[in-house]
Amino acid sequence: MSGPASNPSKNTPTPLQQKLIALIRDHGPIRIGDYMADALGHPQFGYYISGAPFGADGDFTTAPEISQIFGELIGVWLIQSWREMGAPSLFNLIELGPGRGLLMSDILRTAKLDKRFLNAMRVYMVETSGRLRYEQQKQMQKAGIPVTWANDLYDIPAAPCLFVANEFFDCLPIRQFVREADGDRWRERLVGMVDHGPQQNLCFVLSEKTYEQPEGAPAKSRPGDIFETCEPAQKLVDEIAARLKDHKGRALIIDYGHGRSGFGDTLQALRQHQYWHPLATPGEADVTAHVDFAALARTGRQRSILVHGPVLQGDFLTTLGIAERAATLIKRATPKQRDDLISGVERLIHPEQMGKLFKVLCLSSPGLATPAGF
Ligand code: SAH
Repeated sequence: MSGPASNPSKNTPTPLQQKLIALIRDHGPIRIGDYMADALGHPQFGYYISGAPFGADGDFTTAPEISQIFGELIGVWLIQSWREMGAPSLFNLIELGPGRGLLMSDILRTAKLDKRFLNAMRVYMVETSGRLRYEQQKQMQKAGIPVTWANDLYDIPAAPCLFVANEFFDCLPIRQFVREADGDRWRERLVGMVDHGPQQNLCFVLSEKTYEQPEGAPAKSRPGDIFETCEPAQKLVDEIAARLKDHKGRALIIDYGHGRSGFGDTLQALRQHQYWHPLATPGEADVTAHVDFAALARTGRQRSILVHGPVLQGDFLTTLGIAERAATLIKRATPKQRDDLISGVERLIHPEQMGKLFKVLCLSSPGLATPAGF
């Protein structure tokens, strides 16, 4: 999804842009994934480290920020999954990339419906940004439930587990490969620089090195086709799959992306709710890419776990009862709350809003039933 994007040359360079330009001038172009990793997670200038990304005043709005119902339905889905896992007396509830912590706080409020579920859970949040951890801590104090933070999944002990990841996989660094004009060779699309004398800008360049057709790309390609790969996402699915094989559990992955692997450049930046050129203001915009759900599903199947979906977010939430839950809340709502509830539901499920672009994938331990919503 690429929208109108601003021209990078019109902006004063951000501090991170200056650093990257100096690096590229001295050492040559860098991979798009390294650019993304710095743009989002640079220890000093990364967008998630130094910015205030979320909500109406931020740069983008995620589903839990739109409506509490999103997290409540996921909460019920998790309770049901736990029962289908045989209601283990101890399990890990792991959220990857919790943002401001709203999703988990809606999940935990719903978890109070089943005291045994609540007592069995140990909550972990995988978050690298200190600033967002602080926001999450504030939310979790309100919820009154102890939470452990981790920098990555590998720090969390193995146990039966339920994973939730909403708009997390889109942050993981991608690589892009471009089909050559002749033959069957591909070049990597990299981030380089152009020097206009007093002003330098970041720009896309092609690698000198050529590659074979990237794994997972559709067999028929044309010159100029771009194929994206995301190794960190594959590694994460590998790790989740290994855990789901050792202990019962499920992972719910929700994100925007495509259900079939295809060609196209999906790298995008959002700033103040507008599409921005992805290289224009590193550190000051959210730089993400569409998730290739087919690639995640393939990896899951190769690791012999169960894969359900991807299904459309609109269908998933409708099956879980979003309309019924909204109707219940509306009964006790003020007129303003009623309007917000209706517009929130519309935004989450309408095909022209988030209902179709966003997909839901479930990875599951072998032997478990088909989960609700799939
Ligand atoms: N799930 C939230 C926010 C999504 S934004 C919501 O629905 O509102 C992405 C989140 O992932 C942020 O919290 C960001 O700091 C975190 N994040 C990004 N890359 C990460 C990584 N490699 N490891 C851990 N957390 C990461």
